[in-house]
Amino acid sequence: MKCSQDGCPRNATHRYTWPGRTEAGICSDPTHMGALQDVSKALGFELELIPLTGVLAGFQGDATAGTRLALDVAFAQLDAKRATLVAQVAELAKELHNAGRLHREGLRRATLEALSKCCSLEYDLTGDTDTASGFARDIGLEDELGAFEESTA
Ligand SMILES: [Zn+2]
Repeated sequence: MKCSQDGCPRNATHRYTWPGRTEAGICSDPTHMGALQDVSKALGFELELIPLTGVLAGFQGDATAGTRLALDVAFAQLDAKRATLVAQVAELAKELHNAGRLHREGLRRATLEALSKCCSLEYDLTGDTDTASGFARDIGLEDELGAFEESTA
């Protein structure tokens, strides 16, 4: 935002408004800001001077471009945060998946071990494994039980 005084090349340090006028900028030159205050007093208008601070003060263009720049920076920061969160969610999902797989594998192995023990006890007592094999068949682990017993034999 440039100073609104005729021929002044400086950037505004304040923006100002008064009734019926669109917002404009004014520099810190005391004759420029003073002239503005004199005019508003003479006309009986209440002058509102707003300092241009932060991103707006450091920006060499107009206030609209400065605001856009500030918004761009804010959006870039939000985007970076979102990317971090997305990565964290993906990492958590992977950990859950692994935990679930280990859990299932652990349960499956414990079940196969228990069935295998049942088979050998039943065989020792009765000479066959009909009951324990029936349990394994009922829960769909008959083939796996066979493979498990071979692998541990
Ligand atoms: Zn000026």
